[in-house]
Amino acid sequence: MSEQRRTPIRVLVVDDEAEVREAYRQILLETDVSQDIAAFHDLRSRLFNRTGDGPRSEPRSASRAAAFDPIFCGDAEAAVAAVQDALARDQPVAVAFLDMRMPGRDGVWAATRIREIDPGIEIVICTAYSDVDPADIGGLVPPEDKLSYLNKPFHPHEVRQMTIALGSKWRAERHIVRLAYFDTLTGLPNREQSRSRLVSAIEAAKRHDRILAVLYLDLDNFKRVNDTLGHAVGDELLRVVAQRLCDSLPHIYPADSDSETHRRVGDIARLGGDEFLILLPGLRHAKEAGAAADALIRALSQPIQLALNSLVVTPSIGIALYPQDGADGESLLRNADLAMYFAKRKNSGTFAYYDGAMNAAALQRFTIEDRLRGAIERKEFSLNYQLQFDVSSGSVSGMEALLRWSSAELGAVPPAEFIPIAEETGMILTIGQWVLRTACRQARLWQDEGLPVGRMAVNVSGREFASPEYPAQIAAILRETGLDASKLELEITESVVMADERWTEKALAELKQLGVSLAIDDFGTGHSTFARLRQFGVHRLKIDRSFVTRISEHSDDRAIASGIIAMARSLSINVTAEGVESSPQLLFLQEHACHDAQGFYLSKPVPAEQARELLQRARQIIHGTPTQRIRAITG
Ligand code: C2E
Ligand code: MG
Ligand code: MG
Repeated sequence: MSEQRRTPIRVLVVDDEAEVREAYRQILLETDVSQDIAAFHDLRSRLFNRTGDGPRSEPRSASRAAAFDPIFCGDAEAAVAAVQDALARDQPVAVAFLDMRMPGRDGVWAATRIREIDPGIEIVICTAYSDVDPADIGGLVPPEDKLSYLNKPFHPHEVRQMTIALGSKWRAERHIVRLAYFDTLTGLPNREQSRSRLVSAIEAAKRHDRILAVLYLDLDNFKRVNDTLGHAVGDELLRVVAQRLCDSLPHIYPADSDSETHRRVGDIARLGGDEFLILLPGLRHAKEAGAAADALIRALSQPIQLALNSLVVTPSIGIALYPQDGADGESLLRNADLAMYFAKRKNSGTFAYYDGAMNAAALQRFTIEDRLRGAIERKEFSLNYQLQFDVSSGSVSGMEALLRWSSAELGAVPPAEFIPIAEETGMILTIGQWVLRTACRQARLWQDEGLPVGRMAVNVSGREFASPEYPAQIAAILRETGLDASKLELEITESVVMADERWTEKALAELKQLGVSLAIDDFGTGHSTFARLRQFGVHRLKIDRSFVTRISEHSDDRAIASGIIAMARSLSINVTAEGVESSPQLLFLQEHACHDAQGFYLSKPVPAEQARELLQRARQIIHGTPTQRIRAITG
């Protein structure tokens, strides 16, 4: 604010007579208003006998020397251009003195145009004729409280006093506007302000027949920064991001564009939280927006050095283009937001152009998210159990608990559709607890009935695995349900395990301490190595279904599957083949001495009651070849 006070009041003087302009020049430039202020300070210090070493009259008057910054124009057209130019440079005019009678366009014409361009300017109509009725002009150039009159010939003091008074009024109003329309954290225009900027950018794009790109930018994992490092660091980060956006904007336009004439203050805004809006007006080709988004992502992804931390944040950006993706601000913003959302889901740290298909999919996603809330309380979840068999003996070696959701509104929703959403929203943490508790309780009940449960395998999501409280929660559930830890197996997908090796090592060690066993799910789809897995001390690999499916068709996949089995065996890691759907596949696994098998050919995932019947049968059938036994159990 103090900085703002020191900047001179920008005054526009419009008069066709050179002598009149010269008179203004003398008043505004050569009479130093600061003398009045300096004299006042001097008097005050003498009156109150201030002898301190604070600044006295000289430095003050020096710093205040430039109180006005006048611009002189000889005609109405030049005046309008000057206002436009000042606004584009973010150095708006505060007060404009307009001569009423000028050859060509007159003062009223200039006032009307200026008002359209910049509604905040204090306009003073100057006239030598007493026959002008201010009421007539007031009607043409509203609002009346921003319109004053000055009669020629004027006294220098009149001009000076008017400029000071109207300039202060203009500043005070601008400050209030800043509070309402600018984000206090970053100083960028806020959502309100960006809305009106968007409207005028759309109008300009229409007028000039150009493309306007609306970029919706959201930082990835910003919540994590806030949660782990605190809000002060989060705020600091947002300020740096805002600054980087402002610094990058001039460089991201295509080289041949005339962006200077289209760009305006307000092309970057903070919409709230970690969301920013960037407008790229005046584009010729849609692809220029993508190139600009890419440049912004690169600029923001450079490490950010804060007071105590060095952070790397990547943004995800969605792009909607005017006119093709929406005719008004509302729909452009919504579609850019949707595209951002898709970019983040697919591959965070990238950008995506909006396309029409995003609507239906997004709607489905939001509906799922909405219906997932409260699904536990509404008892919409259940578990299915899929038996796993020991390939060499044909007996049941364990089972996997698989979550099922039957929504009152959406019907049965497959896990592949709702689990990623539950993960992303964090709901998986409560859902996972429910799964674990239900599966452990069930295993204990069957055990008490004397049924051959073997292991109970439960899937662990990445979010759960990353939570430091997870091992303690498992311990609590084991205590609560009375299931022996050795009966519980946790299935963690290969991609989750390899995401952060240091964390994995620590987390797996803690889980092993509890006495539970650990299986790597969907093995072969990620990038783990046997050496790392051995180091992590995992007990089991589950060969991904995709390899097993193709065992009978591709010799490469046969080679991979048998290689995995042999290698795991030599490292004393057990192997379960997932997705066994046919007898040749099972035969192959038997030949290669795979430990366990799971798949539709053996047994589909079934509700608890049916699983119980299968276990009862398994308890009775103890004779025959492995295949005969499996067939006898599963019918
Ligand atoms: P997954 O852990 O790899 O589970 C095996 C999936 O393969 C299950 O799908 C199962 O029904 C299916 N499957 C088993 N045998 C065959 C077969 O022979 N052929 C074919 N085509 N499919 C077979 P489902 O139940 O749809 O689960 C999909 C994924 O959802 C699971 O993959 C797992 O990653 C996740 N999931 C399921 N339940 C939970 C849970 O409680 N928590 C978490 N975090 N994830 C779960
Ligand atoms: Mg699994
Ligand atoms: Mg799997």
